[in-house]
Amino acid sequence: MKTVLITGGTGFIGSHLCDFLLDKDYRVICMDNLITGSEDNIAHIMQNKNFTFIRHDVTNYIDIKGRLDYILHFASPASPIDYLELPIQTLKVGSLGTHNALGLAKEKKARFLLASTSEVYGDPLVNPQPETYWGNVNPIGPRGVYDEAKRFAESMTMAYQRFHKVSTRIVRIFNTYGSRMRINDGRVVPAFINQALRNKALTVFGKGTQTRSFCYISDLVWGIYRLLLSDVNTPVNIGNPTEMTILDFAKQIIQITGSKSKIIFKPLPVNDPKMRRPDISRAKRELNWESVVDIQQGLRNTIKYFIGCI
Ligand code: UDP
Repeated sequence: MKTVLITGGTGFIGSHLCDFLLDKDYRVICMDNLITGSEDNIAHIMQNKNFTFIRHDVTNYIDIKGRLDYILHFASPASPIDYLELPIQTLKVGSLGTHNALGLAKEKKARFLLASTSEVYGDPLVNPQPETYWGNVNPIGPRGVYDEAKRFAESMTMAYQRFHKVSTRIVRIFNTYGSRMRINDGRVVPAFINQALRNKALTVFGKGTQTRSFCYISDLVWGIYRLLLSDVNTPVNIGNPTEMTILDFAKQIIQITGSKSKIIFKPLPVNDPKMRRPDISRAKRELNWESVVDIQQGLRNTIKYFIGCI
């Protein structure tokens, strides 16, 4: 039986990875300081004999007894509102937290997988974004705390790979949605669904002409697992390449929920990327992976989850 440590394991993506890997007969150690994660997301697996939860802030030294085969480093605030409210913690977990997790991987001879992000491309000047694009990031803008923390984390990961010969993988995660997102985390999927279910106006930022491409959580988790077991040691985009404007997305949410909500326009946040769509050629070629869940189906599942939360 292989043992995996998941930092940020009580978060949206982290907790789905816990479930997935337990199902695949891994022993799972979930570590989280619970500043944006929630114990509710792991309540159903707390009694599983192959599951352990450790409350710990990974920006401090990480001490794990025994063998570790894999470290999945997912700890970080990840919604724009969270990292605006927690700028220093965001910078620390991407830098000090990644350093500690890599040090642990080196010590345990474990394979390390970094959760990176499409935000490393900033407000991109090419569309779709291939892994070879270096990005267009404002380091001193409000989003810079997240973007630069993740860019630093990628650099640190590559340094450990090259200098210490740690086996590393980097996934660049594009917008993902599904159950266990926090309804008030400020991201567009929970925000619009919550507003639609309450028949409140959907708040489109700017003119809504900015684009995003939304990937369902089960597709993402599959992609991460395929990357983990692959021999691809450079970054890989995982996301759904179906691109849409935020205004069209708002209309789609109103239609699927059958809501009476109107749409209102609010100011566009600073440095909000104007377009985002993953080029997934590398994932297709190297991992034989592509997203399969259609947005209508994914949204129906997610709406059902949020109805249960309200
Ligand atoms: N957005 C919006 N209304 C909201 C929340 C977000 O129009 O209530 C927009 C936001 O400006 C961005 C897009 O939706 O252009 C996606 O935002 P999100 O916070 O989900 O993540 P991002 O992709 O910006 O990291």
